[in-house]
Amino acid sequence: MIRIIDTGFLSGAENMAWDEVLLKARAEGIIPDTLRYLRFSPPVALVGFHQTVAEEIRIEYCRQEGIEINRRITGGGAVFFDEGQLGWELIASRKSIPTCLTMEEITAAICRAAARGLQILGLDAGFRPRNDIEIQGRKISGTGAAFEADVFLFQGTLLIDFNLEHLIKALRIPIEKLSHRELTSARERVTSLKEQLGEIPPLEKVKKALEKGLSTGLGFQFKQGRITKEEEALFRQKLSKMQSSEWIQGTRIPFRPQEVLHSIHKEDGGLIRIAVRVDLKKERIKDILITGDFFIHPQRAIYDLETDLKNTPTRELHQRVDAFFKKNWVELLGLSSEDFYRAIQLALDKIDYAHLGFTFSEADWMTAFNGTLNEILEQCDLLLLPYCSKLPECEYRYKNGCVQCGLCMIGEAFALAESKGLKVMTIQNYEHLVETLEQEKRNGTRAYIGCCCDAFQLKRQEAFKEAGLPGLLIDIENTTCYELNQEKEAYLGQFQHQTYLRLGLLEKVLNLVTHRQR
Ligand code: SF4
Ligand code: SF4
Repeated sequence: MIRIIDTGFLSGAENMAWDEVLLKARAEGIIPDTLRYLRFSPPVALVGFHQTVAEEIRIEYCRQEGIEINRRITGGGAVFFDEGQLGWELIASRKSIPTCLTMEEITAAICRAAARGLQILGLDAGFRPRNDIEIQGRKISGTGAAFEADVFLFQGTLLIDFNLEHLIKALRIPIEKLSHRELTSARERVTSLKEQLGEIPPLEKVKKALEKGLSTGLGFQFKQGRITKEEEALFRQKLSKMQSSEWIQGTRIPFRPQEVLHSIHKEDGGLIRIAVRVDLKKERIKDILITGDFFIHPQRAIYDLETDLKNTPTRELHQRVDAFFKKNWVELLGLSSEDFYRAIQLALDKIDYAHLGFTFSEADWMTAFNGTLNEILEQCDLLLLPYCSKLPECEYRYKNGCVQCGLCMIGEAFALAESKGLKVMTIQNYEHLVETLEQEKRNGTRAYIGCCCDAFQLKRQEAFKEAGLPGLLIDIENTTCYELNQEKEAYLGQFQHQTYLRLGLLEKVLNLVTHRQR
């Protein structure tokens, strides 16, 4: 029998404190299996356990709008919670779902059962790996889990009615989710019960449907229960920890940006961010910080991996990562040890940039595909520029060409490229990019340099890889269409904002191209 409790509207810290109390108390056998309903007031932006606040949250916006910031005890990505959402969570022994042994199986089973509950409300809901419940491709509930001994805390959000503007502005763009089914705007990526049903259903009806789904899908029996005095005492002890900046910001302070090489590795199972300090002379890893929206159990395995990799010779990375995952019992959701190796190697590949005289910050603004930096510099004969960096009023904005009128820096980029003998093309959208790369490959182009925002690069990295042409992408400056939530306009070639090239860096790169071709 599973006890149901409802803690009502609480702050972010209070809700996080309850999570930790209930998980630990269940692991110690003090409380029975429990289903908790929770609400948040004031609104809160919550990072996943392994994420960094500055990377995921727009701190200034949250401060201005009275949105709290906190850290979950579960992995996964950042979420925004306001009064229009219902949180639900199961704190139970793994034995309560005997057919599921792994984190992946538990996640799938609970999500499918919760989706059944939404089907009772008349919705076409289903489980979408790795951890969402969706209605026709649009997310209505995100979930996450934490484990302690033989017990799990599995939590989900249910969007009843919510403030989309707050959600978009409080969280940094979850780029890793943009490419799913080509949904181009935040509005298209999420939905709510109000939108689907045409009205906000009574909360009790929603809860009953969810409980019915969990009963049918998992064989659970539920019974209304109460919070005990012992739990309340534990909650009061825990609260100050969840209110502390050590908890919210995390104790692993990111290194100073100019000292480190970064990388982002995206897979269906999650996004891994790497910050690594390297001793260039000794070719060793000094320190490494691994963050992201992944699910890993035990959670301290990431800290152990970071410690294990200190002082590792860069050439031994693969072997060391492999040995770590073989030696330690680690559960991952949708990722493998190979993904962690690839993410770190991606950052270490940038050592080549430092050897060519680029600073670590400059190296972070560049990404090479299908070849090493040296190969690209030796063979490059094409420069691709984004239309969004051209002056919005310019007659060449939506076509190739530039008469170098001096009104925007595209003219200088054209002049530089032409003086080095490179052909220049303006990319209008994703399809145009794919066509251009195919055509240029057929025409005998050997390698290219391109400029685009890092969001586009991340979202379209498969296209850059599949094109098969070696290419170096240089990040552009300024607010991108993603940050302005104008991806759809940009996709249609109608983005009116102007972005700026990193002209100094482009010049430095092009100078190396000339030098090597001479
Ligand atoms: S420099 Fe080129 S792209 Fe920029 S406004 Fe002038 S003609 Fe247009
Ligand atoms: S800001 Fe938008 S339009 Fe410009 S390169 Fe990025 S995705 Fe393309």
